Amino acid sequence: MSSEIEKVVIIGSGCAGLTAALYTARAQLKPIVLTGAMPGGLLTTTSIVENFPGWPEGIDGTDLMINLQQQAERFGAQVKFGSTVESVNLSKRPFELKVDGEEMTAQTLIIASGAGHRHLGLESEKKLDKKGVTYCATCDGALPMFRDKPLVVVGGGDSACEEATFLTRFASKVYLVHRRDELRASKVMAERALNNDNIEPVWDSEVTEILGGNEDKVGGVRLQNNKTNEEQTIECAGVFIAIGHIPNTQIFDGQLDMDEDGYIRRSEGSQTNVEGVFVAGDCSDKVYRQAVTAAGMGCAAAIDAERLLASENQ
Ligand code: NAP
Repeated sequence: MSSEIEKVVIIGSGCAGLTAALYTARAQLKPIVLTGAMPGGLLTTTSIVENFPGWPEGIDGTDLMINLQQQAERFGAQVKFGSTVESVNLSKRPFELKVDGEEMTAQTLIIASGAGHRHLGLESEKKLDKKGVTYCATCDGALPMFRDKPLVVVGGGDSACEEATFLTRFASKVYLVHRRDELRASKVMAERALNNDNIEPVWDSEVTEILGGNEDKVGGVRLQNNKTNEEQTIECAGVFIAIGHIPNTQIFDGQLDMDEDGYIRRSEGSQTNVEGVFVAGDCSDKVYRQAVTAAGMGCAAAIDAERLLASENQ
């Protein structure tokens, strides 16, 4: 890796990271984008994004991210695919990063590391991971093991409703298991799911165990009704867990201020508690969490980084 001190290094390549790359590239700061293990971020695991402004018919999540990456590259952003940050030292500038075993230094850092899928935390969930337990219907829904079989989706938000609706293309039936009797999802997503004849909601229920079936694969789920304590078992070939996200901020533990859930705190604009470190997107936002708000935050972080560098004549 280069011994040069980079002006801007962006960690993450979702909507926030790539928008920050577009803006800092246009400001001729030659940003480096470290994509991490999931180039394009979580949006690449969704199907059609219907609420990104400017796309009246919606746009495929992966296509949106490829467009954004190409737009940033056109102005000089360097996207390093698969590059993962192993550690950072934010105690002095330039900041030091260890990336895939090599050192890198940066005058400013834009953290847009996003969020990962929340897990139920069951032993059986871990054991049957990739054997019928999945966190992404778009990625796995079409697999032969799920075809014409009953499937379970866990959660009550937009993701769960979107995944349940999507899975009706392949499944014989989809059970939507939610821990309350009211969905958290937006009205349009909730109605789409609840009006679908192939989706059966299972209210007030929590998964207590994912059961093994044939060939070490998922065979069902055990549920407990949290109002009546009654137990029931549902046979299914797959369990799609869509219960939200946790921010990817562990490598900044002890160096950046975070809230109790691990979201990086911002003070003015996108500034963190360390001068020169800016933050954008889902790793710092537990309120809006939309593609377009992440893009807006990426833009703000880029402008903040650019202004700091300009004030230092860099
Ligand atoms: P979310 O809105 O945080 O919903 C998570 C759901 O999982 C909630 O219903 C929650 O239950 C449930 N849950 C959380 N922890 C649980 C646990 N341990 N056991 C069982 N259930 C649990 O997450 P999301 O659906 O992934 O959505 C995240 C954001 O992305 C939202 O802002 C959403 O609007 C957006 N999104 C948008 C689209 C779209 O527009 N195309 C698609 C997907 C997501 P409670 O309701 O009881 O808290």
